[in-house]
Amino acid sequence: MEKHKILVTRPQLPPLNEFIPLLEDIWDSRWLTNNGKYHQEFEKQLAVFLGVPYVSLFSNGTLALMAALQCLKIKGEVITTPFSFVATTHSLWWNGIKPVFVDIEADYCNLDAKLIEAAITPETTAILPVHVYGNPCDVDEIQNLADRYGLRVIYDAAHAFGVKYKGSSVLNYGDLSILSFHATKVFNTIEGGAIICHDLKTKKRIDYLKNFGIADETTVVAPGINAKMNELQAAYGILQLKYFDSAIDGRQHITEKYRDGLKDIEGVRYLENPVDVDYNYSYFPVFIDESEFGRSRDDVYEELKKHNIYGRRYFYPLISEFSTYRGLPSAKGLDIAYEISRQVICLPLYPDLPDEVVDTVVSVLKGMARVESREIAVKILSQIKRKME
Ligand SMILES: *Cc1c(COP(=O)(O)O)cnc(C)c1O
Repeated sequence: MEKHKILVTRPQLPPLNEFIPLLEDIWDSRWLTNNGKYHQEFEKQLAVFLGVPYVSLFSNGTLALMAALQCLKIKGEVITTPFSFVATTHSLWWNGIKPVFVDIEADYCNLDAKLIEAAITPETTAILPVHVYGNPCDVDEIQNLADRYGLRVIYDAAHAFGVKYKGSSVLNYGDLSILSFHATKVFNTIEGGAIICHDLKTKKRIDYLKNFGIADETTVVAPGINAKMNELQAAYGILQLKYFDSAIDGRQHITEKYRDGLKDIEGVRYLENPVDVDYNYSYFPVFIDESEFGRSRDDVYEELKKHNIYGRRYFYPLISEFSTYRGLPSAKGLDIAYEISRQVICLPLYPDLPDEVVDTVVSVLKGMARVESREIAVKILSQIKRKME
């Protein structure tokens, strides 16, 4: 039998025996979608759990992003990051908005707030930053800029479920934040997503937009889309909430074990939790500095595969390198993002990842570093020998 591959993540599922009674209830009721009771209940519970005013559930994060842009009637140019999953920029494209890429900062790989101002033009209407790996952007500086220039801010918070900044949800920043509950994310409803907003009027507007713009049987108030979450996923999501905190504990344990194992390897950098942040341990990216480590990120990626361990190069290539976007003027000169995209590999991280996998990753990396220093030592020795002859 083929050995089970260790992938970058493995979705957490609720206990099946807890899901079955909910399925039976849904079977009995024959109410499968369209703002059913589980949908309403999940929205309420999520708002309390996350500490946010209003949640509107979606069938996925991409449609939530697209609807968020529609909700605020964003047009023209939007400043965003090239270092993200393609859906961030695709959501602009689908709305006929021109993406303007701005480089990231090297510490946490988020949009560099210091570079945003220079990219603002009379066409700019909004900023679309991403809390990459769940680490908050410079939310205060971004809001400052937005206020000064009259711009809207929509956060792609697909990685930031449960993250708090200065004790309150990071999802409360900006005009809107979007979440993804895709199977690979830190919190999943198989597929799914949400928009977080601050007031009931906006929530109503979003609710219309995700259901064709239908206000009642005879009234359509906007050209909406179909992006509703169904009852099965909402019921599943309610169960998932109960297990989120313990899942984060498991992720934290694995993260700390990685950090401990990798701390003395030259040329391997990882991220510490930022200050004032309650982190969700959604990803464990490491950055391989080839000149210090002696081997490239892709060498590490391939070597781990030989041990049945499949990291992911999030995010490589940059969005600005894909054919749709590479012709844009702003697709050039994104030096930090380019460099980071060549250094990064996200290591497997999920609550029930066996400790031995972490041990293997650490020993593979140490072995690679050691082999390289041995090779260098041999080379230097032979050079010395040659000089002496
Ligand atoms: C996953 C992800 C999305 C898209 O979410 P889906 O639910 O898969 O549509 C958008 N942005 C980022 C940063 C993501 O990681």
